[in-house]
Amino acid sequence: MLKNYDYLIVGSGLFGAVFAHEATKKGKKCLVIDKRHHAGGNVYCKDIAGIQVHQYGAHIFHTNDKGIWDYVNQFTPFNRYTNSPVAIHSGKLYNLPFNMNTFYQMWGVITPQEAQQKIQEQVKQANISEPRNLEEMAISMVGTDIYEKLIKGYTEKQWGCSAKDLPAFIIKRLPLRFTYDNNYFNDKYQGIPEGGYNKIIEGLLQGVEVRLGVDFFADRNELEQLADEIVFTGKIDEFFGFSEGMLAYRSLRFEHAHLQMENFQGNAVVNYTERDIPYTRIIEHKHFEFGTQASTVITREYPDDFAVGKEPYYPINDSVNNSLFAKYEEMARNTPHVIFGGRLAEYKYYDMHQIIGSALAKVKRFLS
Ligand code: FAD
Ligand code: UDP
Repeated sequence: MLKNYDYLIVGSGLFGAVFAHEATKKGKKCLVIDKRHHAGGNVYCKDIAGIQVHQYGAHIFHTNDKGIWDYVNQFTPFNRYTNSPVAIHSGKLYNLPFNMNTFYQMWGVITPQEAQQKIQEQVKQANISEPRNLEEMAISMVGTDIYEKLIKGYTEKQWGCSAKDLPAFIIKRLPLRFTYDNNYFNDKYQGIPEGGYNKIIEGLLQGVEVRLGVDFFADRNELEQLADEIVFTGKIDEFFGFSEGMLAYRSLRFEHAHLQMENFQGNAVVNYTERDIPYTRIIEHKHFEFGTQASTVITREYPDDFAVGKEPYYPINDSVNNSLFAKYEEMARNTPHVIFGGRLAEYKYYDMHQIIGSALAKVKRFLS
């Protein structure tokens, strides 16, 4: 039977869009489908009163890779935004990530030596030599005061479990430095695309056929007939009919509000680290672009249990789920004509630059 397309790409997020762009450049005919009614996956932004609202959580682009930085900049220039969230605990503000400003605010220490000594005292008291989980890793990095006030509550509401049951790598995402530098990332390149992430997605998908509101699983047999190859960026466990069991995910609920005031909180990201405040952070979107609009849009981010029908925002990369994923990965290796990619199909806590890197690597592997 004659196939209409070279590639059926399931998912119009960054992975699917980069793959479609590169394959189209190589003369391949692609069809991108997405079950949502817009393209872009989780980087999609909605224009509200001239403000680019990150509908699925704050997205700050950062990378050390000049090639990936140039790649995204070809679609729109990036601004000079540097992420510097503040955390609120018991009505007191602390700078993030953990740096000399945080240590000063927590303990009144002024020099790096004083801060290191304070941390070492607390690590010694906690008696941790080989950190085996997030709690132990966090205490061994910053001591018990910062752990108790800025990490434990936030982490346990974010993930819905004890910090003792979480992998240590999650807290290693955050820099720890002994300088007065509030930059949340260590990467060389950072910013927000001017005009929002949709500009990048539009650039990537220019000239590519996209069908929205189409769920691969609602019409799987017919859709599979359309192309020689499939690029799948949805949930890998769902692709295999959950035959090995269900992978765990963490979901979120976003509460957006358009406020008739110029400036709600004075910063793009404010974290609420106490356990009994039900949201983890409030995002004020205009500050990502130094907006001067008369009104503002804020989003409260509530962690949520994942269930069928909810969005699987975060893979839970603990040992149980990683072993289950390894089984699906093996099945994926034995499934010809399907390329699995992206945060859901690779079941990895990937940032945007890593998704782009992964998509470009797969294009190179399968299309050259
Ligand atoms: P997605 O964007 O999830 O796209 C997958 C697409 O596939 C979706 O559009 C979905 O609708 C579609 N799909 C799934 N199943 C089907 C199906 N059965 N049929 C049809 N379509 C389907 N990264 C950073 O670099 N910086 C940040 O600041 C940052 N902040 C983040 C904040 C939050 C709250 C979250 C959740 C993520 C954040 N990320 C950040 C990570 C970033 O969102 C991802 O790395 C990236 O968007 C993943 O792209 P993707 O294409 O793999 O997946
Ligand atoms: N974290 C924390 N307190 C904070 C911010 C982050 O304890 O104020 C921890 C928490 O465990 C979180 C992890 O650091 O899941 C990674 O934070 P990041 O901001 O990278 O999370 P993301 O933006 O991916 O949700």
